[in-house]
Amino acid sequence: MSIGMLSTAELYSKFQECTGVSTDTRKITADCLFVALKGDNFDGNQFAEQALTSGARYALVDDPTVAGRNPRCLLVADGLLALQDLARHHRRTLAIPVVGLTGSNGKTTTKELIAAVLSKKYRTYATVGNLNNHIGVPLTVLAINEQYELAVVEMGANHQKEIELLCSIAQPTHGLITNVGKAHLEGFGGIEGVRKGKGELYDYLAQNARTVFINSRDTVLTAMYRERLKAIRSETTFAEAIFYPGELVELIQESPVVIYRDATGHEVSTHLPGRYNFENMMAAVAIGDYFGISPEEANHAVADYNPTNNRSQVIHKGSNTILLDAYNANPSSMAAAIRQFAATPAKRKVVILGDMYELGSESEAEHAALGKLVAEGKFDIVILAGKDMKFALGWLPKAYYIPDKFSLHNWLMDHPMTDTHILVKGSRGMGLESVLPFL
Ligand code: ATP
Ligand code: MG
Repeated sequence: MSIGMLSTAELYSKFQECTGVSTDTRKITADCLFVALKGDNFDGNQFAEQALTSGARYALVDDPTVAGRNPRCLLVADGLLALQDLARHHRRTLAIPVVGLTGSNGKTTTKELIAAVLSKKYRTYATVGNLNNHIGVPLTVLAINEQYELAVVEMGANHQKEIELLCSIAQPTHGLITNVGKAHLEGFGGIEGVRKGKGELYDYLAQNARTVFINSRDTVLTAMYRERLKAIRSETTFAEAIFYPGELVELIQESPVVIYRDATGHEVSTHLPGRYNFENMMAAVAIGDYFGISPEEANHAVADYNPTNNRSQVIHKGSNTILLDAYNANPSSMAAAIRQFAATPAKRKVVILGDMYELGSESEAEHAALGKLVAEGKFDIVILAGKDMKFALGWLPKAYYIPDKFSLHNWLMDHPMTDTHILVKGSRGMGLESVLPFL
């Protein structure tokens, strides 16, 4: 039997018969569309029949042999590109505002805060978890259906042109860059590369006459905005630029948790620590304000938000207070967390830090710079874990250097702590949340 390739329109009509999309045979739901993707170590085509047996209505495949075996296989030239095209097509059918956000740090937290605020008034869809890449963004867009009035889409990138691609899929009508910092330096080619890569969101918004939200206190973002105003042709520019926070919020306290004053003079006590989280809150309140959410409602949403995802969690355990920030780490977020922790009043302070990944040739220098910053913090005990943390030791002769996690667990069992504030932070791969039972 000869099998023809499906056009995007044909594929879209098949998608409309389905209840959802899955790329994972372990997560097949009845009548979903299974999309076969290829990774370094797997080929989703091999799982297409299994997906159909488990209840998928169709399987999108790019292997003609597999497609020939079952009439419910839909053949395309490239599974990933077809998934992205499908999402692009679907997005065009949705006449709703989509807030796209990217940035080096705080995307997920800010996304959750914005969604919490907007949900006060609108049926809001937001990226689930951290599904923010070239696969996650199409899946996010395809999950938005007619019942939603607004969507918030997180876009992540570790190299140039990625945000451009994600914008072409999510087609944001509104956009926010949280900040531009030292994250994914390896893939972006240094800090200027990060600035350019994240700036692709501003480029898209300007070229398509869309609205941009800008933290007016962030000099890098305001400069990036001005550069675009100069560069763009007069017929293509942002529809609007909303500078925040203005009079919306004022920081009162930043640790152990943020307390701020809202536009009506009320004090809002939150569950999140640190000035950097205050930045994230300001964005959420400003976007809420723009979409007509009252300060009372917006601030309720922010006050109620309590993370459960290893990001910025404040945990009270026995007489200890643990700041668990083990979800990820890079030079900017490490510096923010260390400065924050240094300024926190506490009797006894301990930091447990793990390697920052993906720094390429800058890893040694960045870990050394971190060592200096930590030394300035004058913490009672410093514990460093991971291969590259040894570069921080030059500044921290008294630190405990424990290369692997299991020795770290043993060390913590042998040195129980009480009445102590403990900061735990490292890159995702270090999995430092595993120390929690030992504190
Ligand atoms: P990812 O790249 O993994 O998607 P992300 O940008 O979504 O990360 P979050 O998961 O929200 O970021 O936060 C990760 C960590 O970054 C937090 O635990 C905190 O340490 C730090 N962080 C959060 N917001 C900021 C901010 N505005 N500035 C600097 N660091 C921040
Ligand atoms: Mg994220």
